[in-house]
Amino acid sequence: MNKLYIAMYHYTRDITHSRYPEIKGLDVPLFKQQIEFFSHHFSVVTTEDVIDSVERNTELPENALLLTFDDGYIDNYTYAFPILENAGMQGSFFIPGKTFAEHKLLDVNKIHYILASSDINKLLSDLLDRMDYYRGREFDYPDNDTLFNEYAKANRFDCKEVIFVKRMLQTVLPEHLRNVISSELFAKHMGVSEEQLAYELYMTEEQISTLKRHGMFIGIHGYDHYWLGRLSPEQMEQDITTALRVMDPFLDRHHWVMNYPYGNYSEDVLNFIAKQGACLGLTTEVRTADLNADNRLTLPRFDCNDFPPKSENYKNFVI
Ligand SMILES: [Zn+2]
Repeated sequence: MNKLYIAMYHYTRDITHSRYPEIKGLDVPLFKQQIEFFSHHFSVVTTEDVIDSVERNTELPENALLLTFDDGYIDNYTYAFPILENAGMQGSFFIPGKTFAEHKLLDVNKIHYILASSDINKLLSDLLDRMDYYRGREFDYPDNDTLFNEYAKANRFDCKEVIFVKRMLQTVLPEHLRNVISSELFAKHMGVSEEQLAYELYMTEEQISTLKRHGMFIGIHGYDHYWLGRLSPEQMEQDITTALRVMDPFLDRHHWVMNYPYGNYSEDVLNFIAKQGACLGLTTEVRTADLNADNRLTLPRFDCNDFPPKSENYKNFVI
């Protein structure tokens, strides 16, 4: 057994003073406490240590922990990076190529911000109205009740209405229509343009270079942040190929690390990234990893909320 805990972060920000306090992220004082806790109870390892361990069968230290940050948010750079550097810990940052190559807002963030800025019942009824309006025009999809029964299922973080809005706009509706509806809802519910928010939200290429220069690890999180396992093989390969191209300055193309958006992948995805030189893959399955037994391309991760000071859930999923 060669055990590894992997922690997953998204937004790490000063929530109290944020313009969007409803955005779900880890507040900076809690992040600091968490890093302090890790420094006493875990051995924070680098992604290079983990690659070495799978490739040469070396043992990681007891209570090895890898820190991963998804989506390329500027608040990871502003708040998390200096705290990590101060603590002598490496963070691994997984950046969707589109965020810095085009400065376009990802659908996942459009949806987070719409949800954070509007009443969920009002938003749900706006979404259902639009789905009725567009059904049968250019696109076809099942009626609202059928879709609601199938997809409105609460998970450990969100109520069923929120999950329904997320699923419709992330993956269920036809792609072009998702973009149309999420942009309409964004314009109606937010007081800012998508472009302005994109420039406020994501790291620049120079900031990503700075992270790398300071010993942080940079990895792949798709180009457009799609559910890769649900794309056609051609679309999936194109998304990953584009991500590899724009991220090339930050990667070792023979030893790069994949982090699947939404934790979603398929056999096709695994085969394709293996051929392209991926040596590790990170999912959102919740448990400790065993590098001797697990597939190195589908390693599980904990959410940062699974560790103190938020909770002690990490103790319940140990293999
Ligand atoms: Zn993501």
